[in-house]
Amino acid sequence: MKNYPDPAFLNGSVRLLLIDGKWVPALSGKVFTTINPTDGAALAQVADGGPEDINLAVAAARRAFESGPWRRMKPFDRQQCLLRLADLVDAHFDELALLDTLDMGAPVASIAGKRRRAVALLRYYAGLATAVHGQTIENSQPGDIFSHTVKEPVGVVGAINAWNGPLGMAIWKTAPALAAGCTIVLKPAEQAPLSPLRFGELCLEAGIPPGVVNVVSGGATAGAALAAHPDVDKIAFTGSTEVGRRIIQASAGNIKRVSLELGGKSPNIVFADADMDLAIPGTAMAVFANSGQICSAGTRLFVQRGIYSEFVGKLCAFAQSLRVGDPMLEDTQLGPLVSQAQLNRVETYLKLGSEQGAELVAGGNRLTSGNLGNGYFVAPTVFAGVRDDMAIATDEIFGPVISVMPFDTLEEAIARGNATPYGLGSGVWTRDINNAHKVSRGLRAGSVWINCYQTMDAAVPFGGYKGSGYGRESGIEHMEEFLHTKSVWTRVT
Ligand code: NAD
Repeated sequence: MKNYPDPAFLNGSVRLLLIDGKWVPALSGKVFTTINPTDGAALAQVADGGPEDINLAVAAARRAFESGPWRRMKPFDRQQCLLRLADLVDAHFDELALLDTLDMGAPVASIAGKRRRAVALLRYYAGLATAVHGQTIENSQPGDIFSHTVKEPVGVVGAINAWNGPLGMAIWKTAPALAAGCTIVLKPAEQAPLSPLRFGELCLEAGIPPGVVNVVSGGATAGAALAAHPDVDKIAFTGSTEVGRRIIQASAGNIKRVSLELGGKSPNIVFADADMDLAIPGTAMAVFANSGQICSAGTRLFVQRGIYSEFVGKLCAFAQSLRVGDPMLEDTQLGPLVSQAQLNRVETYLKLGSEQGAELVAGGNRLTSGNLGNGYFVAPTVFAGVRDDMAIATDEIFGPVISVMPFDTLEEAIARGNATPYGLGSGVWTRDINNAHKVSRGLRAGSVWINCYQTMDAAVPFGGYKGSGYGRESGIEHMEEFLHTKSVWTRVT
């Protein structure tokens, strides 16, 4: 095993809230314990922020926005801060990623890819900090009136995140908001707050002024307070569709801007002419990566009838070959689920799958052998012969569970692929470029992956259709989420 640096946060002291550049306890004095899902043991004590702490953090972010230097800083100087932050994240990445391994079970084997993505996001938005511009627009009004637009930061951003990529998500929301000149109150998920808190510390070290990035750990109460706060201008939310609906309702008070990255039940469609060597591991890891805890996981796997039996057999063999276990070991491919609650949820669906008549061909059980017994491990699971109306085919499970369904025609695959309230990811596997494009046009989803899955890039937008949310993350569109457009009219005399 590689010798990872000691995570600075695990020295036994309570992890505090970052408000206005200072580390402070929750006003209530409450703390909560994060659990290591690998062995169910207590990992760290964390300040349990509540509405009163959110109030303080929002006030600090407001001051930093209105009177602090951040918004007025020259774009070049904001860019330098973000580039320093990118260097710091890069330099400390093993430690940051290790916090996620301990807090939510992400295997250390995934660190290299995550480092590249995190650093790339920060550098990409550092670049965009100096590329913000309005337009001059010809108008047809009488007289000599010149019109142009300017872009302005939306103000104080509340960022509320899920636990399945704690560090990556913290960076994903922070980088474009900062590049746009906004200030932030980040509320990480209560299951995995350690790396976002450490990231907040690095923001200060990078020279980002106090109050610009605030991190308030806590649960749903803190999140709800942030979502409803009258002095927050925008909420950027990643989480379940159910909570997303509550965010929209809470935003109505002061008509906040809202962007929502919500759940999914993504279709992944394999045609009979697909390259099997690509499609088997590709469709399997489209679900099993991060132990199935990815919003865009391709959990509804439609396989054309001509290759259905052969495909299911090979998929099953692939699933059974995966190494599930201690995420600290370099050769582990799947770690545990994040929590006992998530384990309970996944086990409920494993039971429902069999009860409703699906054919279990791989996995289907919790893993308790050896030293896995105290952790939340589930075997990579494949159900075949799944009907579209079964619970495992309609509900987001958020675990390593694939539902395989046969199909006959392209039109049928598109229609069944779209028959879901969600619209986040989707995939198509074929050697026929025409069919690939037909399916890509037909699917109502924010991303379509052709002969690949889950590919992400700082420059390419990601987001949902329908119940998977609105707004985009990554790319120039993500910057726009944090910018207002102001139109200016000037009479020339
Ligand atoms: P969740 O909705 O339960 O919680 C997400 C966050 O919202 C947490 O920080 C939580 O404390 C907070 N929260 C809970 N209730 C709240 C309320 N009433 N008001 C404001 N905040 C509140 O989701 P989860 O179980 O942590 O994460 C899993 C879900 O996230 C899945 O549905 C998954 O698909 C989704 N997700 C989506 C994306 C995406 O990019 N589309 C990425 C990752 C996860």
